[in-house]
Amino acid sequence: THFGFRTVREEEKAKLVHTVFEQVASRYDLMNDLMSGGLHRAWKQSMIDWLNPPRGARPFHLIDVAGGTGDIAFRFLERAGVASQVTVCDINEHMLGVGQGRAEAKAFEGRIEFACGDAEHLPFPDNSFDAYTIAFGIRNVTHVDQALREAYRVLKPGGRFLCLEFSRVAVPGIDDIYEAYSFAAIPRMGKWVTGDDAPYQYLVESIRRFPDQETFKRMIGEAGFGNVSYRNVTGGVAALHSGWRL
Ligand code: SAM
Repeated sequence: THFGFRTVREEEKAKLVHTVFEQVASRYDLMNDLMSGGLHRAWKQSMIDWLNPPRGARPFHLIDVAGGTGDIAFRFLERAGVASQVTVCDINEHMLGVGQGRAEAKAFEGRIEFACGDAEHLPFPDNSFDAYTIAFGIRNVTHVDQALREAYRVLKPGGRFLCLEFSRVAVPGIDDIYEAYSFAAIPRMGKWVTGDDAPYQYLVESIRRFPDQETFKRMIGEAGFGNVSYRNVTGGVAALHSGWRL
């Protein structure tokens, strides 16, 4: 961007991201399971394990950005103490709608709220949350650095940032298989399930363009976070990054 204006390409990206998640909202979990071979479940659990929210009576407020259908939020509520609550924030109403329905079915009302908002301009005041999570969301954001600054802003001092995102496979041999799998199989599966492969081509390309583990770690530090570290999951197919607002 120049002087705050979005360029045409950015506008297109934002629109495409919206179309992708509007199309897949109802079949979102099926797509996740198909594409990751079910692994996304274990990865999400690892994120909650690393977050390790208090289980006692201490209040703890999480914001899960790009929270979509509530996958992270529900895992969090199942794990954390009864005084904990979660705000799911997503830019897409269709995804939030699916999550809202599920929250009612799970009887989590009262501990969960859904808010429509952009990771780059979160509709919350400074110092609001004890932790910020974002799973498979930051890759879709137009300006990653801006989203990281927003994460920092809404966290309380002492608050924790955790991000789960596709990353770079660090295991020789597996990297080639993974390339072949993602570039051929994922768009084909997308076409099979939703009737369109273009959005999935976008997804695969966005994974490829996203910074590697060390670069992303540096970006998190540049946004102001301290004690930044990361853990690979499944050989680096995805990575968990952690940072603290000190
Ligand atoms: N976190 C969920 C999970 O792991 O299952 C959903 C991940 S889904 C791949 C990506 C989500 O990011 C979509 O629900 C999409 O609407 C949302 N999203 C894309 N751009 C966003 C933005 N700028 N701000 C907030 N959410 C965004």
